Amino acid sequence: MNSSTIAIDGPAASGKSTIGYHLAKELAYLYLDTGVLYRAVTWAALNRHIPIEDEEAVTALASKLKIEVKSPQIEDGRQYTVQIAEQDITWAIRSPEVNDAVSPVSVYPGVREALTQRMREIAAKGQVVMVGRDIGTVVLPDADLKLYIVASVEERAHRRHLEMKARGSASTYDEVLANLQQRDRIDSNRSAAPLKAAEDAVIIDTTTLTIDNMLQTVDQLVETVVA
Ligand code: C5P
Repeated sequence: MNSSTIAIDGPAASGKSTIGYHLAKELAYLYLDTGVLYRAVTWAALNRHIPIEDEEAVTALASKLKIEVKSPQIEDGRQYTVQIAEQDITWAIRSPEVNDAVSPVSVYPGVREALTQRMREIAAKGQVVMVGRDIGTVVLPDADLKLYIVASVEERAHRRHLEMKARGSASTYDEVLANLQQRDRIDSNRSAAPLKAAEDAVIIDTTTLTIDNMLQTVDQLVETVVA
């Protein structure tokens, strides 16, 4: 098949970044976690005291903001380095404040338009694994391979809580669960590019999969892609 463009979608903490990152690594493809772009716009809006409810101002910010996603320069568990004006915001965009504001920002059609255009430019060269919510449905509807990764919300909250705790966050399991449920609700119900599986996507449920199981799944996918 030799799929050159691979689209991976699914809700937060479903395992899509783990699968996408390792798949890209094994194929030597470019990896782009598109949630980073929505998070960077949200972080910049909060940082500049732009009210999240101000659609016009947030959209203008998204259109002009220069977000850089580079290969990691520090070994601290990151998959990439995210910068705005040379400031490293890789972990800042994972804060509870950004978690709470990112889905409302992602609802704005103008924000989506600006970021979708950038994603398509990045994908134009091919050999890319792109991870998000609407990659197979809207950003790259002609992707060669589409995956839709799901897991129960309790398992996702458990994984995200452990990750955040390891980075020193004081958020409780219940707070993480509430944030995921809230984001799932907004992401699935918005009218512009809602979270849903493309009709031709392969569905993978990771609820009972360990990291090792996910890596085995990646190996199987690699075989399909290069077959
Ligand atoms: O994937 P991650 O959880 O980092 O994404 C953060 C938020 O960005 C999602 O909850 C969603 O609101 C938004 N997003 C989106 N479309 C994408 C990627 C992310 O709306 N392609």
